[in-house]
Amino acid sequence: MGIYVVSGSASGMGLAAAERLRVAGHVVIGVDIKDADVVVDLSTQAGRPAAVDGVLQRCGGVLDGAVLAAGLGPIAGRDRQIAQVNYFGVVDLLSALRPALERSEGAKVVVVSSNSTTTVPLVPERAVRALLDGDIERALRAVRVFGNRSAPMIYAASKIAVSRWVRRHAVTAQWAGSGIRLNALAPGAIMTPLLAEQLANPAAARAVSSFPVPTGGYGDAGQLADWIVFMLSDAADFLCGSVIFVDGGSDAYFRSDSWPARPPVTMLPRYLWRLVGFRRFMRRS
Ligand code: NAD
Repeated sequence: MGIYVVSGSASGMGLAAAERLRVAGHVVIGVDIKDADVVVDLSTQAGRPAAVDGVLQRCGGVLDGAVLAAGLGPIAGRDRQIAQVNYFGVVDLLSALRPALERSEGAKVVVVSSNSTTTVPLVPERAVRALLDGDIERALRAVRVFGNRSAPMIYAASKIAVSRWVRRHAVTAQWAGSGIRLNALAPGAIMTPLLAEQLANPAAARAVSSFPVPTGGYGDAGQLADWIVFMLSDAADFLCGSVIFVDGGSDAYFRSDSWPARPPVTMLPRYLWRLVGFRRFMRRS
Protein backbone atom coordinates (compact mmCIF):
# COMPACT_ATOMS: atom_id res chain seq x y z
CA MET A 1 0.00 0.00 0.00
CA GLY A 2 1.20 3.49 -0.79
CA ILE A 3 1.34 7.00 0.62
CA TYR A 4 -0.36 9.67 -1.50
CA VAL A 5 -0.75 13.41 -1.15
CA VAL A 6 -4.01 14.90 -2.42
CA SER A 7 -4.42 18.67 -2.58
CA GLY A 8 -8.01 19.90 -2.61
CA SER A 9 -8.91 16.86 -0.51
CA ALA A 10 -11.81 18.58 1.28
CA SER A 11 -14.20 18.81 -1.66
CA GLY A 12 -15.18 17.69 -5.16
CA MET A 13 -12.76 15.64 -7.23
CA GLY A 14 -9.94 15.77 -4.66
CA LEU A 15 -12.26 14.50 -1.93
CA ALA A 16 -13.60 11.70 -4.15
CA ALA A 17 -10.06 10.65 -5.15
CA ALA A 18 -8.87 10.69 -1.52
CA GLU A 19 -11.85 8.55 -0.47
CA ARG A 20 -11.17 5.98 -3.20
CA LEU A 21 -7.47 5.76 -2.29
CA ARG A 22 -8.27 5.34 1.43
CA VAL A 23 -10.87 2.62 0.68
CA ALA A 24 -8.18 0.79 -1.34
CA GLY A 25 -5.99 0.79 1.80
CA HIS A 26 -3.57 3.60 0.96
CA VAL A 27 -2.48 6.35 3.33
CA VAL A 28 -3.69 9.74 2.10
CA ILE A 29 -2.26 13.05 3.27
CA GLY A 30 -4.92 15.62 2.47
CA VAL A 31 -3.93 19.25 1.85
CA ASP A 32 -6.60 21.93 1.80
CA ILE A 33 -7.57 25.28 3.24
CA LYS A 34 -10.06 23.44 5.50
CA ASP A 35 -10.86 19.91 6.76
CA ALA A 36 -7.50 18.35 5.86
CA ASP A 37 -4.43 16.74 7.45
CA VAL A 38 -2.39 19.73 6.34
CA VAL A 39 -4.47 22.91 6.51
CA VAL A 40 -2.81 25.66 4.48
CA ASP A 41 -3.74 28.47 2.14
CA LEU A 42 -2.08 27.60 -1.18
CA SER A 43 -2.72 31.12 -2.48
CA THR A 44 -0.03 32.54 -0.18
CA GLN A 45 3.75 32.40 -0.48
CA ALA A 46 3.98 31.12 3.09
CA GLY A 47 1.25 28.51 2.60
CA ARG A 48 2.95 26.55 -0.15
CA PRO A 49 6.22 25.73 1.70
CA ALA A 50 4.11 25.03 4.82
CA ALA A 51 2.15 22.48 2.76
CA VAL A 52 5.39 20.84 1.63
CA ASP A 53 6.74 20.69 5.22
CA GLY A 54 3.48 19.21 6.51
CA VAL A 55 3.43 16.54 3.80
CA LEU A 56 7.12 15.61 4.21
CA GLN A 57 6.73 15.28 7.99
CA ARG A 58 3.80 12.90 7.54
CA CYS A 59 5.18 10.77 4.68
CA GLY A 60 8.68 10.31 6.10
CA GLY A 61 10.26 11.64 2.91
CA VAL A 62 8.78 9.06 0.52
CA LEU A 63 5.64 9.52 -1.59
CA ASP A 64 4.08 6.99 -3.96
CA GLY A 65 1.93 9.53 -5.72
CA ALA A 66 0.35 12.95 -5.76
CA VAL A 67 -2.96 14.37 -6.91
CA LEU A 68 -3.04 18.15 -7.40
CA ALA A 69 -6.74 19.02 -7.35
CA ALA A 70 -6.89 22.18 -5.23
CA GLY A 71 -8.18 24.96 -7.40
CA LEU A 72 -10.50 27.92 -7.80
CA GLY A 73 -13.07 28.42 -10.55
CA PRO A 74 -13.30 31.44 -12.87
CA ILE A 75 -15.17 33.66 -10.41
CA ALA A 76 -14.86 37.44 -10.90
CA GLY A 77 -12.70 39.41 -8.48
CA ARG A 78 -10.36 36.54 -7.62
CA ASP A 79 -7.82 36.75 -10.45
CA ARG A 80 -4.78 36.77 -8.17
CA GLN A 81 -5.92 33.80 -6.05
CA ILE A 82 -6.87 31.83 -9.18
CA ALA A 83 -3.35 32.20 -10.57
CA GLN A 84 -1.74 31.50 -7.21
CA VAL A 85 -3.69 28.34 -6.36
CA ASN A 86 -4.20 26.88 -9.86
CA TYR A 87 -0.64 27.44 -11.09
CA PHE A 88 1.79 28.11 -8.21
CA GLY A 89 -0.16 25.82 -5.86
CA VAL A 90 0.68 22.99 -8.26
CA VAL A 91 4.19 23.71 -9.50
CA ASP A 92 5.64 24.90 -6.17
CA LEU A 93 4.34 21.78 -4.43
CA LEU A 94 5.46 19.38 -7.15
CA SER A 95 8.92 20.93 -7.48
CA ALA A 96 9.50 20.60 -3.73
CA LEU A 97 7.95 17.12 -3.41
CA ARG A 98 9.76 15.62 -6.44
CA PRO A 99 12.65 14.15 -4.39
CA ALA A 100 10.12 12.33 -2.16
CA LEU A 101 8.38 10.95 -5.27
CA GLU A 102 11.73 9.85 -6.70
CA ARG A 103 12.41 7.77 -3.58
CA SER A 104 9.38 5.56 -4.32
CA GLU A 105 9.33 2.81 -6.95
CA GLY A 106 7.21 4.09 -9.86
CA ALA A 107 5.48 7.13 -8.36
CA LYS A 108 2.63 8.69 -10.33
CA VAL A 109 1.35 12.27 -10.35
CA VAL A 110 -2.00 13.55 -11.63
CA VAL A 111 -2.49 17.30 -12.05
CA VAL A 112 -6.09 18.42 -12.49
CA SER A 113 -6.14 20.85 -15.40
CA SER A 114 -9.29 21.79 -17.38
CA ASN A 115 -10.79 21.69 -20.87
CA SER A 116 -10.79 25.50 -20.72
CA THR A 117 -7.21 25.04 -22.02
CA THR A 118 -8.57 24.38 -25.52
CA THR A 119 -12.13 25.71 -25.47
CA VAL A 120 -11.73 29.31 -24.21
CA PRO A 121 -10.85 31.66 -27.10
CA LEU A 122 -8.48 34.65 -26.93
CA VAL A 123 -6.52 33.62 -23.83
CA PRO A 124 -3.42 35.87 -24.01
CA GLU A 125 -0.26 33.89 -24.66
CA ARG A 126 1.58 36.59 -22.66
CA ALA A 127 -0.33 35.57 -19.53
CA VAL A 128 0.58 31.91 -20.02
CA ARG A 129 4.26 32.73 -20.60
CA ALA A 130 4.32 35.05 -17.59
CA LEU A 131 3.05 32.28 -15.31
CA LEU A 132 5.60 29.84 -16.70
CA ASP A 133 8.24 32.52 -15.97
CA GLY A 134 6.92 32.77 -12.40
CA ASP A 135 5.77 36.38 -12.89
CA ILE A 136 2.23 36.71 -11.53
CA GLU A 137 2.12 40.53 -11.88
CA ARG A 138 2.84 40.30 -15.62
CA ALA A 139 0.19 37.56 -15.98
CA LEU A 140 -2.42 39.70 -14.21
CA ARG A 141 -1.53 42.73 -16.36
CA ALA A 142 -1.96 40.63 -19.51
CA VAL A 143 -5.60 39.79 -18.68
CA ARG A 144 -6.57 43.22 -17.28
CA VAL A 145 -7.59 44.35 -20.77
CA PHE A 146 -10.60 42.00 -20.52
CA GLY A 147 -12.08 44.11 -17.68
CA ASN A 148 -14.77 42.21 -15.79
CA ARG A 149 -14.20 39.21 -18.14
CA SER A 150 -10.65 38.71 -16.85
CA ALA A 151 -11.42 35.80 -14.48
CA PRO A 152 -12.13 33.22 -17.25
CA MET A 153 -8.94 34.42 -18.98
CA ILE A 154 -6.62 34.05 -15.98
CA TYR A 155 -8.36 30.75 -15.14
CA ALA A 156 -7.72 29.33 -18.63
CA ALA A 157 -4.20 30.82 -18.66
CA SER A 158 -3.43 29.14 -15.31
CA LYS A 159 -4.63 25.77 -16.65
CA ILE A 160 -2.75 26.12 -19.97
CA ALA A 161 0.42 27.06 -18.07
CA VAL A 162 0.09 24.17 -15.63
CA SER A 163 -0.54 21.72 -18.50
CA ARG A 164 2.51 23.01 -20.35
CA TRP A 165 4.56 22.75 -17.16
CA VAL A 166 3.44 19.10 -16.85
CA ARG A 167 4.36 18.28 -20.45
CA ARG A 168 7.72 20.06 -20.28
CA HIS A 169 8.77 18.39 -17.04
CA ALA A 170 7.20 14.94 -17.50
CA VAL A 171 9.68 13.97 -20.22
CA THR A 172 12.87 15.11 -18.48
CA ALA A 173 15.53 13.06 -16.74
CA GLN A 174 14.36 14.42 -13.37
CA TRP A 175 10.83 13.10 -13.86
CA ALA A 176 10.51 10.33 -16.51
CA GLY A 177 14.17 9.41 -16.02
CA SER A 178 13.67 9.12 -12.26
CA GLY A 179 10.73 6.77 -12.69
CA ILE A 180 8.01 9.35 -11.90
CA ARG A 181 5.02 9.49 -14.24
CA LEU A 182 3.59 13.01 -14.50
CA ASN A 183 0.29 13.52 -16.35
CA ALA A 184 -2.72 15.83 -16.36
CA LEU A 185 -6.46 15.32 -16.44
CA ALA A 186 -8.60 17.94 -18.22
CA PRO A 187 -12.20 17.77 -16.98
CA GLY A 188 -15.13 19.61 -18.51
CA ALA A 189 -18.05 20.79 -16.38
CA ILE A 190 -18.16 18.49 -13.35
CA MET A 191 -20.89 18.87 -10.73
CA THR A 192 -18.89 19.90 -7.65
CA PRO A 193 -19.16 22.86 -5.25
CA LEU A 194 -16.87 24.80 -7.64
CA LEU A 195 -19.38 24.44 -10.51
CA ALA A 196 -22.34 24.99 -8.16
CA GLU A 197 -20.80 28.35 -7.18
CA GLN A 198 -20.60 29.34 -10.85
CA LEU A 199 -24.20 28.22 -11.48
CA ALA A 200 -25.36 30.42 -8.58
CA ASN A 201 -24.35 33.47 -10.63
CA PRO A 202 -26.96 34.10 -13.40
CA ALA A 203 -24.48 35.33 -16.04
CA ALA A 204 -22.01 32.50 -15.37
CA ALA A 205 -24.89 29.99 -15.28
CA ARG A 206 -26.04 31.14 -18.74
CA ALA A 207 -22.49 30.71 -20.10
CA VAL A 208 -22.14 27.23 -18.56
CA SER A 209 -25.55 25.96 -19.70
CA SER A 210 -25.15 27.24 -23.28
CA PHE A 211 -21.68 25.68 -23.63
CA PRO A 212 -21.61 22.76 -26.12
CA VAL A 213 -21.34 19.37 -24.39
CA PRO A 214 -22.07 16.59 -26.96
CA THR A 215 -22.92 13.99 -24.28
CA GLY A 216 -25.17 16.48 -22.48
CA GLY A 217 -25.26 17.03 -18.73
CA TYR A 218 -22.40 17.38 -16.28
CA GLY A 219 -19.67 15.00 -15.21
CA ASP A 220 -19.61 13.51 -11.73
CA ALA A 221 -16.73 13.91 -9.22
CA GLY A 222 -16.69 10.13 -8.65
CA GLN A 223 -16.19 9.42 -12.37
CA LEU A 224 -13.24 11.80 -12.49
CA ALA A 225 -11.82 10.25 -9.30
CA ASP A 226 -11.92 6.86 -11.07
CA TRP A 227 -9.79 8.36 -13.87
CA ILE A 228 -7.39 9.81 -11.29
CA VAL A 229 -7.01 6.47 -9.51
CA PHE A 230 -6.44 4.74 -12.87
CA MET A 231 -3.75 7.30 -13.73
CA LEU A 232 -2.06 6.51 -10.38
CA SER A 233 -2.09 2.76 -11.07
CA ASP A 234 0.45 0.53 -12.84
CA ALA A 235 -1.69 0.96 -15.97
CA ALA A 236 -0.06 4.40 -16.22
CA ASP A 237 3.54 3.10 -16.26
CA PHE A 238 3.75 4.07 -19.97
CA LEU A 239 1.68 7.27 -19.66
CA CYS A 240 3.99 10.29 -19.65
CA GLY A 241 3.19 13.97 -20.21
CA SER A 242 -0.35 13.27 -21.42
CA VAL A 243 -3.31 15.59 -20.91
CA ILE A 244 -6.41 13.38 -20.79
CA PHE A 245 -9.69 15.14 -21.64
CA VAL A 246 -12.79 13.84 -19.81
CA ASP A 247 -15.27 16.51 -20.83
CA GLY A 248 -18.33 15.06 -22.54
CA GLY A 249 -16.83 15.81 -25.96
CA SER A 250 -16.51 19.63 -25.83
CA ASP A 251 -12.81 19.60 -26.78
CA ALA A 252 -13.46 17.22 -29.71
CA TYR A 253 -16.45 19.35 -30.79
CA PHE A 254 -14.40 22.55 -31.03
CA ARG A 255 -11.24 21.13 -32.62
CA SER A 256 -12.03 17.75 -34.14
CA ASP A 257 -9.44 18.20 -36.92
CA SER A 258 -6.79 20.23 -35.15
CA TRP A 259 -5.73 17.46 -32.79
CA PRO A 260 -3.69 15.25 -33.03
CA ALA A 261 -1.57 17.85 -34.81
CA ARG A 262 1.41 17.09 -37.01
CA PRO A 263 4.50 19.15 -36.16
CA PRO A 264 4.44 22.23 -38.46
CA VAL A 265 7.37 22.73 -40.87
CA THR A 266 8.50 25.71 -38.76
CA MET A 267 9.06 23.27 -35.90
CA LEU A 268 11.52 21.11 -37.84
CA PRO A 269 14.73 22.64 -36.40
CA ARG A 270 13.38 22.26 -32.85
CA TYR A 271 12.25 18.71 -33.68
CA LEU A 272 15.76 17.74 -34.88
CA TRP A 273 17.34 19.47 -31.89
CA ARG A 274 15.11 17.40 -29.59
CA LEU A 275 16.05 14.17 -31.40
CA VAL A 276 19.72 14.91 -30.74
CA GLY A 277 19.00 16.05 -27.18
CA PHE A 278 17.35 12.71 -26.41
CA ARG A 279 20.75 10.99 -26.39
CA ARG A 280 21.83 13.27 -23.54
CA PHE A 281 18.55 12.54 -21.77
CA MET A 282 19.19 8.79 -22.04
CA ARG A 283 22.70 9.17 -20.66
CA ARG A 284 21.41 11.09 -17.62
CA SER A 285 18.54 8.69 -16.81
P1 NAD B 1 -14.03 22.03 -5.38
O1 NAD B 1 -14.28 23.47 -5.08
O2 NAD B 1 -15.07 21.05 -5.01
O3 NAD B 1 -12.63 21.57 -4.74
C1 NAD B 1 -11.50 22.40 -4.77
C2 NAD B 1 -10.76 22.29 -3.46
O4 NAD B 1 -9.64 23.18 -3.53
C3 NAD B 1 -11.62 22.70 -2.24
O5 NAD B 1 -11.58 21.71 -1.25
C4 NAD B 1 -10.97 23.99 -1.79
O6 NAD B 1 -11.07 24.21 -0.39
C5 NAD B 1 -9.54 23.79 -2.25
N1 NAD B 1 -8.87 25.09 -2.32
C6 NAD B 1 -9.33 26.20 -2.94
N2 NAD B 1 -8.53 27.23 -2.67
C7 NAD B 1 -7.55 26.77 -1.86
C8 NAD B 1 -6.43 27.38 -1.23
N3 NAD B 1 -6.18 28.69 -1.35
N4 NAD B 1 -5.62 26.60 -0.48
C9 NAD B 1 -5.88 25.28 -0.30
N5 NAD B 1 -6.93 24.65 -0.88
C10 NAD B 1 -7.76 25.39 -1.64
O7 NAD B 1 -13.73 21.99 -6.93
P2 NAD B 1 -13.50 20.78 -7.96
O8 NAD B 1 -14.47 20.99 -9.05
O9 NAD B 1 -13.39 19.46 -7.30
O10 NAD B 1 -12.08 21.24 -8.54
C11 NAD B 1 -10.94 20.42 -8.51
C12 NAD B 1 -10.02 20.89 -9.64
O11 NAD B 1 -10.68 20.65 -10.89
C13 NAD B 1 -9.71 22.38 -9.62
O12 NAD B 1 -8.35 22.57 -9.94
C14 NAD B 1 -10.57 22.94 -10.73
O13 NAD B 1 -10.02 24.09 -11.33
C15 NAD B 1 -10.60 21.78 -11.71
N6 NAD B 1 -11.72 21.76 -12.64
C16 NAD B 1 -13.01 21.73 -12.19
C17 NAD B 1 -14.05 21.67 -13.10
C18 NAD B 1 -15.49 21.61 -12.66
O14 NAD B 1 -16.38 21.82 -13.50
N7 NAD B 1 -15.80 21.31 -11.41
C19 NAD B 1 -13.77 21.66 -14.47
C20 NAD B 1 -12.46 21.70 -14.89
C21 NAD B 1 -11.43 21.73 -13.97
